[in-house]
Amino acid sequence: MQIERDILSKNDAYAAANRERLAQTGTLALNLVSSPGAGKTTLLVRSITDLEGRYPIAVIEGDQQTANDADRIRETGVPAVQVNTGKGCHLDAHMVGHAFDSIELKDGGILFIENVGNLVCPAGFDLGEAHKVAILSVTEGDDKPIKYPDMFAAADVMILNKTDLLPYVDFDVERCLAFARRVNPDILCFQLSATTGEGTEAWYGWIEETAAKARAAA
Ligand code: MG
Repeated sequence: MQIERDILSKNDAYAAANRERLAQTGTLALNLVSSPGAGKTTLLVRSITDLEGRYPIAVIEGDQQTANDADRIRETGVPAVQVNTGKGCHLDAHMVGHAFDSIELKDGGILFIENVGNLVCPAGFDLGEAHKVAILSVTEGDDKPIKYPDMFAAADVMILNKTDLLPYVDFDVERCLAFARRVNPDILCFQLSATTGEGTEAWYGWIEETAAKARAAA
């Protein structure tokens, strides 16, 4: 569809400008996507708390309404900008570029972008991030990667969250990982619990590696 193509090509131009701006400071930008309730904000709060002092961190929070999540992030002491999309079901690159005006990107830092919670709309919109990170929790269906293949194809990383609840739910981890790899053979998978902290070290290790690359490229 012509209209859809025009919107996406405009978005890509803004995304390229964002990427340029992030490269100037060697900032690693990660775009976190998931269904509502998968634990994006909880994972962010834990990651920020554990990584604090190692990197300058900033957060852009996308939600249709409220500033609740940005408030939760600010309690950690890290700057956060809330973007409300109203009826919109995803952040776009123009909104993110605008948010840069009210957030200071420091050299060698990390910018976490928490997208609006759904596995459909954010898939097609590049925000200028280095990687999309799809979060799936074990309280959801283990077939989500094949139900929402666009998202899992667009993501470089899948985080399986809430692993502490595995004994209580009917979720087949191996089946889920196989579905994710069917859609995206190169997808990197981490299993962790943002609540208990189990498994987070591997996630932090990846962030460290990836942030070093972003810094080196600046
Ligand atoms: Mg949230």
